[in-house]
Amino acid sequence: MKWRTRACHEVQTDGELDDLKLHDSLSLMLDVHIGTWIAGLLSLLSLGAAISWPYVKLNGNFSSHLLEMKSTNDYIIVNFFVFCSYTFQYMMTAGILEYTNPKGFASKNLNDEERNRRKRQIRKELGLGIVAMIINTTYAVNWMYFVEPYLWYSDFFVKRSYSLMWFLLNVIVYGLVFDTWFYWTHRALHESSYLWDKIHVVHHAFKAPSAFCQDAVHPLEGLVQGAMGHYVAAIFFPFHPIALAFFGLFTSCYAIAAHDGRIGDLNHHYAHHSKGKGRLHNFNYGLYWPLWDWICNTRYNDRKDEPVTKSIKNQE
Ligand SMILES: [Zn+2]
Ligand SMILES: [Zn+2]
Repeated sequence: MKWRTRACHEVQTDGELDDLKLHDSLSLMLDVHIGTWIAGLLSLLSLGAAISWPYVKLNGNFSSHLLEMKSTNDYIIVNFFVFCSYTFQYMMTAGILEYTNPKGFASKNLNDEERNRRKRQIRKELGLGIVAMIINTTYAVNWMYFVEPYLWYSDFFVKRSYSLMWFLLNVIVYGLVFDTWFYWTHRALHESSYLWDKIHVVHHAFKAPSAFCQDAVHPLEGLVQGAMGHYVAAIFFPFHPIALAFFGLFTSCYAIAAHDGRIGDLNHHYAHHSKGKGRLHNFNYGLYWPLWDWICNTRYNDRKDEPVTKSIKNQE
């Protein structure tokens, strides 16, 4: 799939969203009422999860791993089940936020033109989001199949109980490592004109993102900032499989809400989209909280709407 990009120094305009073309046939396929699309996809995903669930084999006590995959059949079924259930969660959470959003396509505050524009935007966010979901869930299942059994701590919580202290340690390590990974990979996507033009410009086509925008990214960005970021901490620190699965679900819901922008957006990710222009959205890089943005002085400053990262400032 070919992604259309634009020069980094161009000023973004309201018409920019329409410049982001999906593949022609995909656009044609998506050209139905957005409510129908969401309801239809949710039905298909729940059906897929329900049909595959009886064939998914669970591990006995979950202390070393959650799912048993001893054959290629198991591997394929788990891939299908994880994609259906995780994408269902993404669409359901984003759908509820969009339906209740005063700027959402169901809101009475919008005129016909604004409503149609919002629907077009969500179709594009959904198209990109589902591709990113396929990549993210495949990576997660491959991690469980090929990596998890060989980690140095694979039987760590089989031999000792998982106490409250271990859970709190898991929360702290996961939160710090994930947000550090997210901040620096996100910042690289802005600092490098190559990465901006080829990859991150796709996500910033959405200046007034809906909750569906969480995964409306270039596939490579979805992989690096999603699934890879999720498992980085688990390489060197013992995580209970249930806790790790819960953190993945929490991160997804948090990021969906951050794009809706009304609740829980601690580091004002919505402003990261709506303020600034082009690569000059170079503030509020962190996802969970503003820790690294405070340390590196890259918090958005309302009083001076200008680039905050020196290296980009010098190139503009
Ligand atoms: Zn960005
Ligand atoms: Zn975003």
